[in-house]
This record gives sequence, C-alpha cells and structure tokens, in this order.
Amino acid sequence: MDFSFTPEEEAFRDEVRAFLAERNPNRGSKRAHGAEVGESDDDVASLPKLLAWNQALYERGWVGFSWPKEVGASGGGLIEQMILKEEAGKARAPMLGLSYMGLAWVGPAIIQYGTDEQKQRFIPKILRAEEHWCTGYSEPGSGSDLASLQCRAERDGDEYVVNGQKIWTSLAMWAQWIILLVRTDFTASKHTGITCLLVPMKAAGITVRPIKTMNGDTPFAEVFFDNVRVLVKNRLGEEGQGWDVTKTALSHERSSIAEVTSLQHNLDDLKDLGRRACLNGRAAIEDPGIRQRLARLESTIEAMRLNGLRFLTKQLRGEPVGAETSVNKLLRTEVEIEIGKLGCDMQGSYGQLVKGSPGAIDGGRWQKHMLSWPSVVIGGGTPNVQRNVIAERILGLPHDA
Ligand SMILES: Cc1cc2nc3c(=O)[nH]c(=O)nc-3n(C[C@H](O)[C@H](O)[C@H](O)COP(=O)(O)OP(=O)(O)OC[C@H]3O[C@@H](n4cnc5c(N)ncnc54)[C@H](O)[C@@H]3O)c2cc1C
Repeated sequence: MDFSFTPEEEAFRDEVRAFLAERNPNRGSKRAHGAEVGESDDDVASLPKLLAWNQALYERGWVGFSWPKEVGASGGGLIEQMILKEEAGKARAPMLGLSYMGLAWVGPAIIQYGTDEQKQRFIPKILRAEEHWCTGYSEPGSGSDLASLQCRAERDGDEYVVNGQKIWTSLAMWAQWIILLVRTDFTASKHTGITCLLVPMKAAGITVRPIKTMNGDTPFAEVFFDNVRVLVKNRLGEEGQGWDVTKTALSHERSSIAEVTSLQHNLDDLKDLGRRACLNGRAAIEDPGIRQRLARLESTIEAMRLNGLRFLTKQLRGEPVGAETSVNKLLRTEVEIEIGKLGCDMQGSYGQLVKGSPGAIDGGRWQKHMLSWPSVVIGGGTPNVQRNVIAERILGLPHDA
C-alpha cells in the first residue's frame, strides 16, 4: 500500500493549512475537532462565528466536499477529502459544515434517491447551514427491529396523511425538517411496505416533547404525528422504497460516526490530564494500570485509523463500503466509554465532581463524557446489533433465527 501523496495533493494540503491558519474559529482552543454544535455552553455565543466558518468553507466548496457539482458542491476527490478532514482534525477546527444530519446522511440519501426538484430545494440549504434536519426512524416498539415500524401514511390525492409516533429523535426541537419513515402498505412484507417522506417540522399536527438524559442535557424528543399532511412530491424515492433509502442513509451514518480524529484529541488530552492529576500520591500517568489502559486505547484508535484507510481504499477502487463500517462504529462505542471512565478514574476521588462543583477538574469534562456516551452508543444501532452485522455480513456466520 502506497501512502505517499502526489504534488497536487500536497499543494492542496498547503492550501488547507493556510486557510485553517487564517479562518479556524477554534484557533488555540482545546475543543475536540468536530464537536457538535450544542455540545458546549459556549455554542450559543459562538453561533455567529460558526456560521461565518460554514460560509467560508462553503465559498471554498469544502462543505459536502465530495458531493457532485450538479448539486452545488465541489465534486472533490476522496484523497483530497481525507486531507481536508485530516488537517481540520489536527487544527481542532469545528465540523466541516454545520447541518450535521443533513451532511452526514440526509443529503447523501437525497442525492441518491431525490428528484431534481428535491435536490435543488434541499441540498443548497444543507450546504449553507440554512436548514437543519432530524431523523424520524425509531418508534417506542421499533428500534433495532426498525422494519417493524407502525407510524402510518395514507394517500389522499396529492398528499399523504401521517399518524403515529417517533421517539429518541435527536435535535427535533431545533430542526426545520425531518426525514421520516412511515408504513404505507400494511399488506406487504415488513421491509417493502415502508416509505420515506421529507416533512417540515412546522407542519400542522406535529408535537415535539423533549426527553432529558442522565447527563442533564435534552438532546432528543418524542415526536407525535396527528393527521399531518405531507405533499407526495416530498416523498424520497418510490412508495415502498423507504427501506433502501434508509440502508443508504445508515451506512453513511455509521461511516461518519466512526471518525477517529476526535478520539485522538481526547487521548492526547487524557495523557495531559494524567500528568496533572494526582492518583495515590503520584501523577496518574505513572500508575501502571492507568498506563496499560492508555496503551490499550491508543492501539485501538490506531486500529480504527487503519480500518478507515481500508474503507478509503475500497472506495477509491469504486467498491461499495457497506457492513464494514460497523466495525469502527462498534470500536468507537467501547473507546468512548473507556475515555470517560479513564478520565474520571485518573482523578481519584475528584472523579465524582461534575460540572459546577467547586474543584471539578477540567470543568467536569470527563464526568460529562462518562455520563453521555453510554446513551450515545445506542444511537445508529446498538453494539449488539453491530455485532450481529459483523457476524452475519462480514464473517458469514449463520443468521440469528
Ligand atoms: C443518543 C441517542 C440518539 C438517538 N437519535 C435517534 C434519532 O435521531 N432518530 C431515530 O430514529 N432514533 C434515534 N435513536 C434511537 C436509536 O436508534 C435506538 O434507540 C436504537 O436503534 C435501539 O432501539 P431501542 O431503543 O428500541 O432498543 P431495542 O431495539 O429494544 O434494544 C434493547 C436491547 O436489546 C438488544 N437487541 C435488540 N435486538 C437485538 C438482536 N437482534 N440481537 C441482539 N441484541 C438485540 C439491544 O442491543 C439492546 O441492548 C437515538 C438513540 C440514542 C440513545
């Protein structure tokens, strides 16, 4: 495998570095690269800065970098995209575009399945961060077994009438649109009776009820649909094709969730904490148990980076990247939970002090990480489900009946 870059690719790297030196709003900050808007209390104050950042990236064609030129993106190559992400990661820049779900999976699904009208309507607003999306897949009785969903849409002329409930809908309180899975055919097999709709959150009949998590944040909500009317032209793909649209979207979700740069930053920050925090009368990093855990984290993160390069190689060869992304998603869940635990363990008894307590180390950052990640790992498919995917679709083990 040849990891060297062409002169043109190196020139692109220089261009990215010069841009970041001038425009990165996180210059000099310790914030992890790619931290989502909403993860920090400073976000509201920093929103104008982030919007200016998004606009500067957009003008360069660096939001939705690899999306095709026909939809207003730059149609950039995969290697350049990797360079862009790598340099932004090293510089701890914010995410490359603010419309998180729009960029991660809604946009790619619209590009693949959308009509020309839908592409023109939705994609530019995702690139310019003018509209934000949420994802209405899960229901109270349908999570891992998503295909059993019951939220229904009945055709009435050139509209669908939607009734039912979604749950755990991240960012539903702020999004302008929801990508929604509904059942349009109760007689067909459970996978083929599903349709995907693009629904404005301000539509009459939608009620959003926020849900609070154990870390004190309110990242998601229940969403109720009571005779909500949706234009048929807002259907993504054909009627009954919703499952295929979702599979595309979820494979983008799993690959984008698996970014490793922020993990490397967290690891660097953990080592730094280990030098500052005192455990059993000496610097935590001198404790053999702590060193072993740091080493294990480091080797897992490196394995994830190399796995990521494997996916990239497949993509460069024009091969589809499918179930393999579940490997990094699974590893990431384990690594993130360990990062939070290790950050707290290194602080000894101070590890119990959360944000706002006098004496909380690093503003309670590691405690928040520990309380957040156990829930985040479930989003996009639980670890058990990832293991099933790996067993059945990569290792070819017998299907769980
Ligand atoms: C932070 C967060 C954000 C989320 N954001 C969204 C969102 O924006 N939009 C959205 O639609 N959903 C979202 N979800 C929902 C998420 O996708 C579901 O919670 C997830 O798919 C699991 O479904 P469930 O909660 O119904 O659990 P269940 O499917 O009921 O699972 C319960 C337990 O059973 C295990 N299990 C289930 N089936 C199997 C199996 N076949 N083999 C082995 N074990 C199994 C699971 O691993 C789990 O431990 C979010 C969830 C979280 C926690």
